[in-house]
Amino acid sequence: GNFMRIPIIAGNWKMNKTVDEAVAFVKEIKDQLPPAAQLQTALAAPTLCLMPMMHAAAGSPLKLMAENCFYKNAGAYTGETSPFALYQAGIHHVILGHSERRKYFHEDDELINKKVKAALDNGLCPIVCCDDTMGRRIAKDDKVHWVVGRILADLKGLSPNDIRKVTVAYEPSWAIGSGQSADPDQAEEGCYLIRQTISDMYGDAVADDVRILYGGSVTPENTSALMATADIDGVLVGADSLDAKTFLEIVNH
Ligand code: PGA
Repeated sequence: GNFMRIPIIAGNWKMNKTVDEAVAFVKEIKDQLPPAAQLQTALAAPTLCLMPMMHAAAGSPLKLMAENCFYKNAGAYTGETSPFALYQAGIHHVILGHSERRKYFHEDDELINKKVKAALDNGLCPIVCCDDTMGRRIAKDDKVHWVVGRILADLKGLSPNDIRKVTVAYEPSWAIGSGQSADPDQAEEGCYLIRQTISDMYGDAVADDVRILYGGSVTPENTSALMATADIDGVLVGADSLDAKTFLEIVNH
């Protein structure tokens, strides 16, 4: 990371935890978090858990995030979550375009771009996830295509003011839930390419402000080395965010 950008440690619980478990977790960690001006901490949780967690987190720097939302604010869209309603409820952050949404729920870049715009229009700050093709590592000749293509499509048409509110998470599919994290050099290469692409789209000054996270088998052991690189401003943590003590070890890496 760069000292100009406040680092972020964000957990992504996915479809795990009951409301009771979620509230107990927040109570356990809420008084042990660093001030937000130094390091921002956030948890993405199932929609059902968000409001009870928000009440339990009152007075702590912990931010709560939705794991997804729709691109319409209201209407006949059974089962979807409104970005407007999230904002009104006090949930001001949302993960969009996670590789599991793309893989199991067939979300494509066009849909994700609509969701990113709707989230920003409603005051939400999105973490936009950018994966690569399953099993493929960065190879010299094709690296430009996959990373640049995804970022160009997902972040297309945003204002310079809006793009600064976006956080990007680089999550190689082969590293998610596999126990095989990208090594710091590989992770940095992906995050560097993402920053270069944002710079091509929106200019250097904007690209310097956007926070870029790495995700995929992050643990208390590999967090420091990942975050010490130039372009990685934090981590998005799946499995190792589910246990309060392990999550705190990552926060205090
Ligand atoms: P993992 O998940 O840490 O379990 O690999 C990361 C993610 O999917 O965001």
